[in-house]
Amino acid sequence: AKELGKNRLQLYTESLSIETFKLFSLESDLRKAILLEDFILHYQPRVNTLTGDVVAAEALIRWNHPLFGLISPAEFIPIAEESNLIDQISFWVIEQVCKVQRQLIQSGDNIVPVSVNLSAKTIMRADLIPTILNYLERYGIEPNLLEIEITENTMIKAEMAAISAIEKLKEIGIAISLDDFGTGYSSISYLKKFKVNYIKIDRSFITSMLVSQEDARIVESIHLLAKGFNLKVVAEGVETTEQLKRLKQLNCHYIQGYLFSKPIDEEQFLKIISNNSRL
Ligand code: C2E
Ligand code: CA
Ligand code: CA
Ligand code: CA
Repeated sequence: AKELGKNRLQLYTESLSIETFKLFSLESDLRKAILLEDFILHYQPRVNTLTGDVVAAEALIRWNHPLFGLISPAEFIPIAEESNLIDQISFWVIEQVCKVQRQLIQSGDNIVPVSVNLSAKTIMRADLIPTILNYLERYGIEPNLLEIEITENTMIKAEMAAISAIEKLKEIGIAISLDDFGTGYSSISYLKKFKVNYIKIDRSFITSMLVSQEDARIVESIHLLAKGFNLKVVAEGVETTEQLKRLKQLNCHYIQGYLFSKPIDEEQFLKIISNNSRL
């Protein structure tokens, strides 16, 4: 029995150590990356459904890893959240967005708001608002040029803190989007609790809207709800002209998706904004 126990322990530690090693090395790499600022932001335009005008953009982070190249946020944001590194990353993103806006202001370009995705941990920070105000002041950025996106998942984890943060952010003049709308457990009740400005219909519904009657009805219902609550709707992940056509019929205000543009690097983004071009 002792022998067996020993073997089991060996097996257990073996597999544990691989996982732990992977996590540990990524986590320690991530710490270095924060110091070295080994991240880049891509920007995905948000477009007026009817006119095709670029009305805003979403900042999406990528980790520029020295060995692995660009790592998707889906890979490292969860590690950052678990290891308490997320707040430093969030604040870095906010500062970069302010810097880019400053650049656009200085070149006299037609500027649009840029949104930043915030995790539950960051929303719960007492110094979130002062930090944001600090960056806005440092770079001379009007609050309406910054927007915040929070997911329903964030609301579950940080309900009270999120309610108060949303109220304060809106008071300052920063618009809020409820991201991945429809994927949570209590999407509708959140509309009552959180007075957001935009809801972003999750890509999964847009993807299957034309093949699933249920998903089509969900997208339709979300538009009715939004109208009732006086909210603007953004459809995420629009990839085809057929989807666009249907969304126009539903009077969807804004769309984001590969059909118009993938997330693009800063240089391309500056070009698009300075041309004030229609995509
Ligand atoms: P999200 O906020 O829902 O962002 C939309 C994701 O969908 C992005 O993936 C975007 O590239 C992708 N996407 C946009 N249009 C299309 C389309 O037409 N088709 C398809 N297939 N995909 C499309 P990305 O950039 O990999 O980001 C993934 C998630 O990582 C984001 O989902 C967001 O939750 C998180 N994330 C990204 N940047 C940050 C950040 O700075 N902070 C935090 N906390 N999370 C971030
Ligand atoms: Ca988002
Ligand atoms: Ca989303
Ligand atoms: Ca998502």
